[in-house]
Amino acid sequence: MTATLIAHGRVIDGTGAAPRHESVLIDGERIVATGAAADAGAAGRADLRRIDATGLTVMPGLIDGHCHISFDEPNSNDELFFHRRHGLAAIVAAQNARKVLQAGVTGIQDADSIFEIGIDLRDAIEAGIVPGPRIASGAYALWTSVGGTAGRLIPDRGVMGYGKVVSGPGEIVGEVRRQIKNGADWIKVHVTGLVPRHPLRGEVKSWTRDELKLVCDTAHELGIPVVGHVRGADSIIDCVAAGMDLILHATLMDEPALEAIVRSKTPLMPVFTFQANLADYGAAIGADPMVREMFRREIADSAQMIRRAYDAGVPLLSGSESGFSITPYGDWHYRELEVYVRDLGLTPLQAIQCATQANAFALRLPGQVGEIVAGRLADVLVIDGDPTRDITVLGDRTRLRHVLLGGREVDLTPAPPRGDPPGWRVSTYGARLGREVAGGRAAAPHAATPIHEP
Ligand SMILES: [Zn+2]
Repeated sequence: MTATLIAHGRVIDGTGAAPRHESVLIDGERIVATGAAADAGAAGRADLRRIDATGLTVMPGLIDGHCHISFDEPNSNDELFFHRRHGLAAIVAAQNARKVLQAGVTGIQDADSIFEIGIDLRDAIEAGIVPGPRIASGAYALWTSVGGTAGRLIPDRGVMGYGKVVSGPGEIVGEVRRQIKNGADWIKVHVTGLVPRHPLRGEVKSWTRDELKLVCDTAHELGIPVVGHVRGADSIIDCVAAGMDLILHATLMDEPALEAIVRSKTPLMPVFTFQANLADYGAAIGADPMVREMFRREIADSAQMIRRAYDAGVPLLSGSESGFSITPYGDWHYRELEVYVRDLGLTPLQAIQCATQANAFALRLPGQVGEIVAGRLADVLVIDGDPTRDITVLGDRTRLRHVLLGGREVDLTPAPPRGDPPGWRVSTYGARLGREVAGGRAAAPHAATPIHEP
């Protein structure tokens, strides 16, 4: 492989430091020098490829810490659980992985996948069979029979969609070990979920602290970290006590929960993008105004506690929940950063640090990716625009001049438009047709919005 000099760009290095105007030298798969050392190292090299980045931004590839690469943008759990097929899901996921990479996302964590195809896709990408970002993959998310993110669609035992029900210590230990044998980089636990008609408002904790500890101990014994979908203060306290490595959502923290997080410094990944998209743009897709308001409030209510955790030194990671109809691939991976700037009050540089240097943890590659620093893997973007002035330029694919993954130039030619295989989507007749609607005496009701948050 030849060497590449990216010359004289505005370098945002991912560490939170102010941008510098300098060159970056890449040799093979790694960044080998920056600044004057890069220019000196490039001098006289015959095999050098040169990218003139004058007036452009050079930064680490974005890492999306929460991307469901196997889902293919369903608009309901019914579609995801009952309308997908194993082989086809893997083929479609490969195309979506390419789309994600072409949006400047050079790494994703896919914590749970249908048919556990995240693991196969990761291996296919690493073997050079299909293009795609680096993937840290989980297998099936673990549920108890209380359920979680899909109410009564979750069976009493066995596998459904992206998850598996485990009951009792024997099944917990056996399933964690099975997933690790099959190549899981992370174990994912749905710690909380909505239970229909349960008297508790919000999500219910469906595990005991001892069960959570058993998941973590079993995984840790084998060197594998655990990530939890967690809403609610008590659940957060139990996850910290159990030794969980990464907490998703972390909404509804109270003072004791915040104290626990600050003491343990457990990384948080709120994943506001799904809620933000419905709150801000839901009208365009006919979403129920009440649900939009609920999601807007969830962000507003959580923002202050998340910010306090960040200020106290808790690592803040970033993920987009891409893979649903609300969050299609390639469009919204930057969006969490916009929410961090707008609702948490982070500077654009701080937000970028969350999606680069800090998010390397989600990839299990801390100190290896996410920084423009000599010695790191050369996952690099060259962008026509300045994200420190406007963070949303990171979502504009027309401004992406180059994406390098491990030093190799990514082909940014878009794939031709695709269709959907037969039986792949849930179809509806339309909104409910009462006689008032038929007679023009009432407006058609809003399309149903899924009340189960991912
Ligand atoms: Zn999710």
